[in-house]
Order: sequence, then structure tokens, then C-alpha cells
Amino acid sequence: MTDRSPAREMSVWEALTSAPARRPTARGQLEADVAIIGGGVAGLSTALHLSERGMGVALVEAQSFGAGATGASAGVVAPQLTKTTPDAVRKKLGEDRSSRLLRLIAESGTHLFDLVARHHIDCAAVPAGFIAPRMGANSLTVLQDVVRQWAPIRTDLRIADMEEVTALTGCRGYRAALVDSTGGGIDPLALARGLADRAEALGARLYEGTPALQLGRAPGGWKIVLPDGEIVARRVIVAANASNGGIHRALRGTMLPLPVVEVATEPLPAAMRARILPGNQALTDLELDVFSIRYTIDGRLVTAFPSSNGGLPEELEEKINRRLEETLVVHQPLRIDYAWLGQAAVNADLIPRIVRLDEGLLAVQACNGRGLGINTILGRELAAYLLGDRKLAQLPIADARPISGFLLARHIPRMLLATALFAKQLRRRLGMA
Ligand SMILES: Cc1cc2nc3c(=O)[nH]c(=O)nc-3n(C[C@H](O)[C@H](O)[C@H](O)COP(=O)(O)OP(=O)(O)OC[C@H]3O[C@@H](n4cnc5c(N)ncnc54)[C@H](O)[C@@H]3O)c2cc1C
Repeated sequence: MTDRSPAREMSVWEALTSAPARRPTARGQLEADVAIIGGGVAGLSTALHLSERGMGVALVEAQSFGAGATGASAGVVAPQLTKTTPDAVRKKLGEDRSSRLLRLIAESGTHLFDLVARHHIDCAAVPAGFIAPRMGANSLTVLQDVVRQWAPIRTDLRIADMEEVTALTGCRGYRAALVDSTGGGIDPLALARGLADRAEALGARLYEGTPALQLGRAPGGWKIVLPDGEIVARRVIVAANASNGGIHRALRGTMLPLPVVEVATEPLPAAMRARILPGNQALTDLELDVFSIRYTIDGRLVTAFPSSNGGLPEELEEKINRRLEETLVVHQPLRIDYAWLGQAAVNADLIPRIVRLDEGLLAVQACNGRGLGINTILGRELAAYLLGDRKLAQLPIADARPISGFLLARHIPRMLLATALFAKQLRRRLGMA
């Protein structure tokens, strides 16, 4: 096939989501009970939950709502841990802290879908379930053990065997899958914009094009310095994700960057659509090279590809099609209509957390590749704490932990993903997989 570049480097969500009213930049001297830095799901969910209860909120977003990882994401709602297990989290965090975090993760899908329904947010929400398949010969046993580990907390997980996985997904090579009925898919940019609209309607003051330049102490609270003014607030939530380290020194070098390319194909031909994810669930596998697919509302397949150099790969269309052909039971070459680059910021241990920085100063450090659900529910938890309904110790709280050897370590996630993909393709070509 001839390789064509996608029409534009833009996300399919930008094309599908109607252009929002642009919010003003913040100017002059502002005051708020709570100031929030960052307009992704974490910041906007916190703003919405606080505004629902009448607390005075001001939120500044450097660009536009959803411009960060939220709007770049695939919109998979996966109420799951990433590359770790409940028992490993229990061992690391202890019974108390782990059970609070695990309960939040377990509840995160239902919470997200309920929230958008309650607020009538039009974001193509599809609560059809999340499928996490696995390839190894021992997959059935491994996944049965994962379900057993979740059992004290949730009963909404089940295992699909090889035959059922093929029927559910239209993908080959998987031996078993974890099926989570509380997951699904969402248009993440429409979600961010919808959260902003609802928070604003409930009284939150929201600003776009307003980067927080500096954060410092002020009498009785904190001061955020902006290009044309400042906000003084008793409490501040830092929710700038990959940019958190630029806002507070303690957060520098605490998260690893992971550039990922997302693409959306042309709408699938009927023959493919009938076989690939006929139930419209979202799929992200549990392999090292992470294969993920889901549909947009107009029937395009969204899938990801590792970015080995931080940019869009050469011959992207050919590479994506090769991967789809290797995995899907039915395939014909697909045009790539949209391609975009996102930057995830992952904790080294992949465990989502809220970081206590100082009195009245908290940060969300929860981007673990499953952040849409978990960061939204963390917004609810932060709001509950700020409103006095929760004690700090009841949040999944942790200290800022700089990653040792950060200058080298920051390349590891990107290299691991690209190497795993290369290794799998090589094995396939040699007939070993
Ligand atoms: C390519 C990609 C695909 C992904 N796919 C999925 C998926 O399918 N499902 C899933 O659950 N998760 C996914 N994730 C992870 C998920 O998107 C994130 O965990 C989640 O969106 C993070 O939300 P957030 O609000 O913490 O951060 P962000 O959405 O990154 O928001 C932070 C905001 O802060 C703003 N900001 C930065 N600096 C400043 C400043 N100085 N002042 C003011 N504002 C500032 C940014 O512009 C940005 O809008 C994906 C991530 C990427 C990158």
C-alpha cells in the first residue's frame, strides 16, 4: 500500500467535539477559597465537585481545557491498575492505604459514567465495558489470580477464555482476558469541556490561556503569579500533570515522560466492524508493547503506537496497518485520518497518588495511563477533603518522591515500549509468536 500521511496532526476529538466558547485570561488581583492549576480531568473534576457545594473556585489553564494528556488520550475508561496487582499494591502501601486506593480505582469507571450522566455532559460515553487480554500460556491462571485479589473489593470482574476473547474482540493470539463491566469509552476532550461548562455554570471562575508562573506563600494561604495578575487562595491544588515539576520544586523529577502517538482510522468497513469489538467495549492488552483499540462515535478505530523519538513515526500508516493486520482476525488496509502526539507523565511505581506538599497545598500525581477514571474520582476526593468531609489521611496520599537517576530514567518508558513492539514484530516474522 502507498503510505499517506494523515490530513493533519490533530486529534479525532478536536474534529468530533464542537468548538467551545473560549474563556478569558485571568487579569488583576483575584481571590478564591481554592485555586486550581491545570484544566485537565483532575483539575476540572475538583472544580466541579467543589462548585457543586458552593465553594469559591478559580482555575487557571495555560492553554485550553483538555489541552494536556486528557485531550490527547484514547478515551479508554479502564478502572484497573497498570502493570501491577492489588496484592503488590497492598504489600507496598499496607492494608489501610491500599484499600482506600483500590476502592477508588474499582469505583472510578462507575463514578465517571454516573458523573457525566448526572451533569448531562455530552461526551459520547459508552459504558460497554473494558477488556484487558493477555497472550502468555499461563494467562488464564494469572488473570484468575488477579480477580481473586480484587474479590474483597469488587465482584464486577470476570475472565474470558481464549475462545470468548476472540469472539469478544476480533483479535488473535490472546489466551484469556479480564473483562471489567464498569469500564468503556468516552470522548476525553468533550469530557474536559463538559466538566468545565458544568463547573462554570455552578459558579467556578475558569480561565484559559493563563499559565501559573510562580507559586508562593501569602498571608493565610498561597499566591499564584500569572502573566497579568495573581490569585490569592487559602488552598491550592496543583493539577498540571507533566508540568507539575515546573510549579513546585518538590515535584521535579517525580514523574517519567512517555510520548505516545494516537491515531484514528477511517470509519471501519462493515465486514471489519462486525468482527472487531462487536460489543463496542474498549480494549487495552496487558502485553509490554501495549495494543489498544476502541471506536469513536463515528466508527473509527482509535489505536496507539509508541513514539521512539518523541515525534510522529515515519510511515505511520504502514506501521499501524501492519500491527492491525497482525492482531485482527479480519483486516483490510485502513486510511489514517487523524494522528496526534500526547505526553503522559507516569509515576515510577505506576501507583496513582495525591501528594501533600505543604499546609493547604496538594498535587495530583496520578497519570498512570488509566488517568481518565482515576483522576476524575480523585477530584471528588480532593473536593471532599477541602470541604471537610474527609481527613487528609483518608485520601491516597503520598510524599513527593524524586526518581533516582531521573536524567537517564526519563528515557526508560519510551524505550521499553518501542523495544517491546520491535521484539514482538521480530518474533512474529520469525514465526515464534
Ligand atoms: C497519548 C495518551 C493516551 C492516553 N490514553 C488514556 C486512556 O485511553 N485512558 C485513560 O484513562 N488514560 C489515558 N491516558 C492518561 C490520561 O490521559 C491522563 O492520566 C489524564 O488525562 C491526566 O489528567 P490530568 O488532569 O491530571 O492532566 P492533564 O490532562 O495533562 O491536564 C493538565 C493541564 O495543566 C495545564 N498546565 C500545565 N502547566 C500549567 C501551568 N503552569 N499553569 C496552568 N495550567 C498548566 C496543561 O495545559 C493541561 O491542560 C493517556 C495519556 C496520553 C498522553
